[in-house]
Amino acid sequence: MPVHRTACHALFLAATVAACLTAMTRAEAQERAPGPVTMVRAGNLFDSEAGRMVGPRDLLIQNGRVRQVEADLVAPEGATVLDLRRCSVLPGLIDAHTHLLLEQRARESLSETAARDQGVDGDAARVLHAAPRARSYLESGITTVRDLGNSGQYLDLILQRAIDQGDIPGPRLYGSGPGLAPEGGQLEPQPADPHRLIAGEYRIIKGPDDARSAVRQAVAAGARVIKMYPEATPQRTRLSVAEMAAVVSEAKRHGVPVAAHATSDASIREAVEAGVASIEHAYEISDETLRLMAARGVWLVPTDPSDEMAIAFTRDWPVQPPEAEVRAHLAPARDRLRRARAAGVRIAMGSDFYVPWPTGRGEAARGTLDGYVEAGMTSTEALRSATWGAAMLIGDAGLGVLRPGAYADLIAMPGDPAAGLSALHDLRLVMKGGTVARSDGGACAGT
Ligand SMILES: [Zn+2]
Repeated sequence: MPVHRTACHALFLAATVAACLTAMTRAEAQERAPGPVTMVRAGNLFDSEAGRMVGPRDLLIQNGRVRQVEADLVAPEGATVLDLRRCSVLPGLIDAHTHLLLEQRARESLSETAARDQGVDGDAARVLHAAPRARSYLESGITTVRDLGNSGQYLDLILQRAIDQGDIPGPRLYGSGPGLAPEGGQLEPQPADPHRLIAGEYRIIKGPDDARSAVRQAVAAGARVIKMYPEATPQRTRLSVAEMAAVVSEAKRHGVPVAAHATSDASIREAVEAGVASIEHAYEISDETLRLMAARGVWLVPTDPSDEMAIAFTRDWPVQPPEAEVRAHLAPARDRLRRARAAGVRIAMGSDFYVPWPTGRGEAARGTLDGYVEAGMTSTEALRSATWGAAMLIGDAGLGVLRPGAYADLIAMPGDPAAGLSALHDLRLVMKGGTVARSDGGACAGT
């Protein structure tokens, strides 16, 4: 990954080759020696940049990356052929906003969740609980996630390292460490906070110099993105403009993007003016601020559930609201996504899903795409937000696309997802870095 590589190059310059080899991840070591070749015969390939299916293509894969993509390639001698000619093939999906270390139970406040995580379960159990969620993501076809805080003190980065090293299965993880927040973080007002739950969950910023220091702490711990709270709901405490500017400029010096959690129009505007890469949520954004986002190329990550998911979520409430009420509650979010599209704002998919779900976290996250379609996106536009768009936001050219040099991260299904996202429910194969992570028999084989 980028951070390792930079360190490695520096070490090579110092001619300490042995030290560099120790610092390399297993995946990086594999990239250096030519390995076996796999040919994937795709029945219908999704061009994520163009946002359309382009028909049959053959992909040559070696050392975890795509080497060649053409129609009618001849399989090299000795290559393993993966016949997916009856299936659509897409780049692995990307969720640009997850919280693998967080699961808020029904009728539990975020403070109570933090108390359970920090005081009852503890860090080790919390990481263990996150491992099957990571696996669920991968098996649901989401091969990359950004994990944006609410992960204790750097527990996301412990998970990130375990996945990088191949210790546990999971998506490529871009973790932030604790979110950089104003006083109180996101926990409900606590006059005393005797157990220091806020400090256990966030990195509270105390001025511009401290903001710079917090960015450096995160980068030193392995963060690949900085999570910042221009305004932390529910108290609506806010970072100062100078603190935000300090976070963004220090993050830019270290080559990491800043993801800003912001809901009110004023806080979004300040974050955009500070130069963040993305605005997460943006529920109360005005058309004027949307136009500013579009002009500055700032990404919107709309963390909106589908109608069906939101209704299912209310099923175990003591008094279940009527479905019409749930839909009405979602209407403003649908409206802001429509307005964002009309203003030409770039959109990357993010689920922000952190409640228990019977079919697993990965499938729930994928349902966010249905929410986008309910707001008026086409299927291909939604798929593009979870491939090309999210990859551009993360800033790694190997992600979200199937072209020479990209990671061999792909998913396959019999139907045509461009014609309707329900095809994603019949996922038959998931590959990450050239390794098959999930395969359901030969449903994709044949002409
Ligand atoms: Zn979130």
